[in-house]
Amino acid sequence: MTKIKNIVVLTGAGISAESGIKTFRDTGGLWEDYPVEQVATPQGYAADPDLVHRFYNARRKDLKTVKPNPAHEALARLEKGLIEKGGYMTLITQNVDDLHERGGSENIIHMHGELTSQWCTACQHKFYSQGEFTPKSICPKCDVAGKIRPDIVWFGEMPYRMDTIELAVMNCELFVSIGTSGAVYPAAGYVQMARSLGKQTLEINLERSEGSHHFHETRQGKAGKLVSVWVDEILNG
Ligand code: NAD
Repeated sequence: MTKIKNIVVLTGAGISAESGIKTFRDTGGLWEDYPVEQVATPQGYAADPDLVHRFYNARRKDLKTVKPNPAHEALARLEKGLIEKGGYMTLITQNVDDLHERGGSENIIHMHGELTSQWCTACQHKFYSQGEFTPKSICPKCDVAGKIRPDIVWFGEMPYRMDTIELAVMNCELFVSIGTSGAVYPAAGYVQMARSLGKQTLEINLERSEGSHHFHETRQGKAGKLVSVWVDEILNG
């Protein structure tokens, strides 16, 4: 019987790096080619919706060429293992890719939206699609043209399901952050919330992050290897 049964895991772009998806801030990362103001803000979208759709069409197309890596698969194994032992795991991801789903995880909160989801701002309908969109795309529900935007939380917008996330952090025993630079709030602040509530905290990241000093323990290295090792410790502990 594992000692720790209720775990919250927060993931960032680093967990998908070994699958071949570029992170945002590392050298060679996405934002070197595309300034954040242009592709990840409501203002950028208003100024050039065609560029923004093309950017997210390309990211969506990239999904077809990548697959989950051992870190995604280990988290799915952890979720199942904890449930078998009467426990629970909440997976919060800042990632907009679908690699946690394809890796087998089920209880996933996409706090920054999803590449495969579109949002009609005319009728508020959200729908899944792996296709391409333009500023002239038509909503499949209300038939209005020109109101479909990527269902991505841009800078200056409110992340999704904040109440559920805070409740999960309040109720967990262990908070674990994997592959995130700790630079984007509110996600970067969850470790402080967890610690102030007396939870255990662990960071797994390639290098020390901006928030490393908030964690009880930091493990440095590639997620593909370190996450599997940690999951084995929890499930065999
Ligand atoms: P980030 O690029 O700021 O940080 C990524 C972190 O991962 C870095 O600290 C880096 O050292 C670490 N890292 C890189 N390779 C790693 C590996 N193999 N193993 C472990 N750690 C590794 O990304 P972020 O913290 O997620 O935050 C920025 C924003 O980027 C988020 O809002 C997210 O929505 C968005 N984003 C998402 C994706 C995706 O969906 N896959 C990709 C890029 C950016």
